[in-house]
Amino acid sequence: MPFSLAAAALVAVVSGGVLPAAQTLPSSFPDRPALQAIVVDPGHGGDDPGVTVGEIAEKQITLDVARRVRALVEGRLGIHVTLTRDEDRPLSADERAAAANNSAAGLFLSLHLNAAFGPSSSGAAVAYASLARDTPSGAPSAEPMVLPGPYGSVRTVTLVPWDLAQRGHIEASAALAGVVEAALREQVPMSPRPLRRAPLRALTGVNMPAVLVEMAYLTNPDQAAAIAGQDFQSRVADALFNAVVRYRTIAGGPP
Ligand SMILES: [Zn+2]
Repeated sequence: MPFSLAAAALVAVVSGGVLPAAQTLPSSFPDRPALQAIVVDPGHGGDDPGVTVGEIAEKQITLDVARRVRALVEGRLGIHVTLTRDEDRPLSADERAAAANNSAAGLFLSLHLNAAFGPSSSGAAVAYASLARDTPSGAPSAEPMVLPGPYGSVRTVTLVPWDLAQRGHIEASAALAGVVEAALREQVPMSPRPLRRAPLRALTGVNMPAVLVEMAYLTNPDQAAAIAGQDFQSRVADALFNAVVRYRTIAGGPP
């Protein structure tokens, strides 16, 4: 799907909530609460199978790996894991972003498999978003609003255009991408270009640090054979688990 700036939905960012004030997002992560939840997004689904080679469909591999990551992260870290889908159904990019933004998650991992015209391309890669409408400050233009809260209280809410939600998190997403790339490198073959930045529609609406993981090339016969197997899927899940552990220490909260 092409990168679009036309989405009209809005993300409400409550002052003092998960998101630091957009103007002050720094190179480190002060005041970020402990990582209590994450979102794992299995790419494709339903009538959108993604890359398909023989019996292997990207949509099934991404769901299998996402479930493995959920089992590891919830079982070993006690961090809640939301899957954007836990069955074989299609979801738009905005629906995936909404599922993430409506959770209390502190990071977003979108899982995919890669494809190329030739059979030789191989290896995993990690991408984070670049945004077409960068402002000099790199921050969204957002107007604070005061809304009534419970029991006569008020709260200040900043409305961020949905398509710009990722803008306030680019530095954190870059840091997350580096952590994920390093963790994957310990477990699976990497692409010659393992770290990428692109205008990814899948991430632009996500209001938290977010990366897209291409686990392998399904168009490479050796990689296709590997990705269909338990060992490769388990290695990717282990790598993503390790990345969550390491990112948690960067982002704050208990080691
Ligand atoms: Zn994909």
